[in-house]
Amino acid sequence: MEIRKGMAVSGGIAAGRLFYYRRKRQTADRSEPADVSLELLRFQNAREHAIKELQDLYEQAEKKAGAGSAAIFAAHQMLLEDEEYGNFVTGRIEGERMNAEFAAASAGEYFEKQFSELLDEYMRARGADVRDVTDRLLRALAREQKERAGEPAVSELLKEPVILAAEELLPSDTVQFDRSKLLGLVTEQGSVNCHMAILARSMSLPALTAVSVPEDWEGRYVILDGEDGTLYVDPDPETEVFLQKKREELERRQQELLSLIGQEDITADGRRIRLYANVGNGQDIEDAIRCRAAGVGLFRSEFLYLGREDFPGEEEQFSAYRDAALRMQGKEVIIRTLDIGADKQAAYFGLGEEANPALGYRAVRICLTRTDIFKTQLRAIYRASAYGTVSIMFPMIASCWEVKEAKRIAAMVQEELRAEEIPTGKVSLGIMIETPAAAVMSDVLAKEVDFFSIGTNDLLQYTLAVDRQNERLEPFYDPRHPAVLRLIEMTVRNAHAAGCTVGICGEMGADPQLTETFLKMGVDELSVSPSSLLKIRKKIRETDLSGKE
Ligand code: PEP
Ligand code: MG
Repeated sequence: MEIRKGMAVSGGIAAGRLFYYRRKRQTADRSEPADVSLELLRFQNAREHAIKELQDLYEQAEKKAGAGSAAIFAAHQMLLEDEEYGNFVTGRIEGERMNAEFAAASAGEYFEKQFSELLDEYMRARGADVRDVTDRLLRALAREQKERAGEPAVSELLKEPVILAAEELLPSDTVQFDRSKLLGLVTEQGSVNCHMAILARSMSLPALTAVSVPEDWEGRYVILDGEDGTLYVDPDPETEVFLQKKREELERRQQELLSLIGQEDITADGRRIRLYANVGNGQDIEDAIRCRAAGVGLFRSEFLYLGREDFPGEEEQFSAYRDAALRMQGKEVIIRTLDIGADKQAAYFGLGEEANPALGYRAVRICLTRTDIFKTQLRAIYRASAYGTVSIMFPMIASCWEVKEAKRIAAMVQEELRAEEIPTGKVSLGIMIETPAAAVMSDVLAKEVDFFSIGTNDLLQYTLAVDRQNERLEPFYDPRHPAVLRLIEMTVRNAHAAGCTVGICGEMGADPQLTETFLKMGVDELSVSPSSLLKIRKKIRETDLSGKE
């Protein structure tokens, strides 16, 4: 038996024969076209062909993994249709007399590099999307020259159910395989946020990455443990029995959790808790709806600002917020205003280097000093509020004047919209309690707003003076630290004394071992990532607070 350790990116255990997928990367050599206008036409035809393929893939993915997962192919299509991208390629064909293949390949390299330089891990993983799009375009160009004749379609490669190994799986590979022939996925390159991982999770396929699988292992029997990130090759009988038991237990627990879809979030002694979801993209919203989250407790709006070259405009933001409000069908959607800076950087903000970014120019500090950015976002949110139940939450508050100023700007925006006769809904205002200062001042702050949401990720980092990004400090980043629990308790007490509701949207809210503690403190709402919703619902329903308060 051989054991390879990797990174678990999609849970579950799968056993079967290994199939090694050799992805053919398209290459392009440079040549000078005899006729530049013909070359431009070749590019336009290939682009149209690739867009058509992407539309078909979207439909396939929608059927297999839901609309949220299919959105990746709409994004690919957007890249191909993007003016900047198109101009880049045509500019090279015309300006530098390049053949279409070489121009498309160099556009791919350029845009991939842009993604690879981003700080956000999720956005860095988008480089794979650019590779995927470039390959598609090159194939479309090659197809025209019949270079791909005789190659079997990806959808027909698998003859029996297998564990698929590859150096890297691009989104279109992952979705084109016949799902009934896939037991699990293992790749050498990837990350928790790469699309292979995202698709694997939505297709409930166990998956690992960061495991190097030699090609000549093809055909060997393996067990893939997507829970702890291990690949067992030719497992011995004891390991096999052990993993089989683990798998049965997992399946039993999963079934139990699934049976909680549609159940109410009420403690055993009858107290109703608002179980909300934290969302960062369309897939999260879809998952939140599937698990019947009572609302969105944290819409991380900064994702709209990352991985691009310029600010998202009012219309683009409005459409994203309205979409969330509409999809949640009247359930509350708490939109957190821009929380950029520190680990979430976008070059076009021109924030510059800082010695201590976590203590630096970030979040509401940017919004209050660059009010043009803030007002555009607020206008978009208020406009979206006409389409559902939308609330606004300001992050990184440390002082009372910041709240007053944010509220003043919000009122100004509302007034402007009123004057323009643009409809808005009723919007509650809240703040995040994620600095020790805000927790300590929560009695004063509670008089200013309708609700608090405790951001325990930052509250922990600032209270314990432990950088949340530094892996070496993990033993010191203690999510059960009594200092943080005391601050939370104090915040809840102060909030309730002023008639303000209080939720927890940091990761501590998704720790089932803390659920009872928080409910005993009187927390009104827990907002967790969609993948933790059912686990926390289970815990809420098991908790009996009678006689414990
Ligand atoms: C937090 O700090 O707990 C929080 C929810 O915000 P983020 O993790 O986005 O900083
Ligand atoms: Mg935070």
